[in-house]
Amino acid sequence: MSAVNLLDFDLDGLTAYCEQLGEKRFRAVQLFRWIHQKGATDFDQMSDLAKSLRAKLQGSATITPLKVISEHVSSDGTIKWLFDVGGGNAVESVYIPEDDRATLCVSSQAGCAVGCRFCSTGHQGFSRNLSTGEIIAQLWFAEHNLRQRLGQSERVISNVVMMGMGEPLQNYNALVPALRTMLDDHGYGLSRRRVTVSTSGVVPMIERLKADCPVALAVSLHAPNDALRDELVPLNRKYPIAELMGACVDYLQAAPRDFITFEYCMLDGVNDTEEHARQLIALVRHKVPCKLNLIPFNPFPESGLKRSSNTRVQAFAKILIEAGIVTTVRKTRGDDIDAACGQLAGEVQDRTRAHERMLRRPIPITPVQGGGGASH
Ligand code: SF4
Repeated sequence: MSAVNLLDFDLDGLTAYCEQLGEKRFRAVQLFRWIHQKGATDFDQMSDLAKSLRAKLQGSATITPLKVISEHVSSDGTIKWLFDVGGGNAVESVYIPEDDRATLCVSSQAGCAVGCRFCSTGHQGFSRNLSTGEIIAQLWFAEHNLRQRLGQSERVISNVVMMGMGEPLQNYNALVPALRTMLDDHGYGLSRRRVTVSTSGVVPMIERLKADCPVALAVSLHAPNDALRDELVPLNRKYPIAELMGACVDYLQAAPRDFITFEYCMLDGVNDTEEHARQLIALVRHKVPCKLNLIPFNPFPESGLKRSSNTRVQAFAKILIEAGIVTTVRKTRGDDIDAACGQLAGEVQDRTRAHERMLRRPIPITPVQGGGGASH
């Protein structure tokens, strides 16, 4: 029987596992703290665990991190790690230090099946879901690696955004234990407000997340009407905007923040006109408490799309702000180490022929002027 990777368990899971070994819950708590708070991988390090338990663990369990393929450090302090998840696939995590926080952007899948037009990961197609252990291993690695290099014994990562490769709500069963480990006081102790799940709009799973593990929610909107969103975010054909907005309003009953963040990737001539801004206002004002985050597109050749000019982004933001919508323009970070999320990972072992399908699907919009890859 192959050894169990303890990174796959949230505290309840680890408790159940320890009970199978004849151990009480407080032993699971000790073990969990060693793994996530101290970054231990060797059971012999766990000095307060009984020798008999350590011996049982040696025979049946491991703490197996992800292998790091590469690390890119930007002049602005951003760090991107590329992790090997086997089978020729790699996923990325990005550390973004700021004055008042340090955010880790985490991947949930190798590739992504949603196929958003402006997303480098979407063009690569989908290989497989990550396990809970592979999701949490990204935080485990970043947290303990950074503590060492910064000479810090206290927590480094203050915020996590599930905004890397993949649609987290299409990997729900692995996602939720990973989120619980992030939130657990015996794990990473992050506040619900500081853990964000970003989704392209998997409506039924937004409803489940509200019940199971309500954290901050960001929604990849990118278009103010169904015709355009059907093309940019194909999942919209299944869960159109009205349903998505309804799910967002409903989610706010349990959310740790009193607004939803809408991500809006600014694509030149595609979704960035004054008319689009007006439609956006009509969609959300007095209906969905929200914050709009305008994202400068990070171009990549296969997309056929261009970044909106700064002038246009600012004009778009001004219309929204004047209508009373809280709007920010995302600062681009780590520009010198690569471009769009998913570009570093190269090609995943696509099982969906996503790129071919996208090439067959014409973009119904003619860019009016000269436009970044963004994950959701
Ligand atoms: S934006 Fe998000 S949901 Fe869309 S293809 Fe990229 S990773 Fe998938």
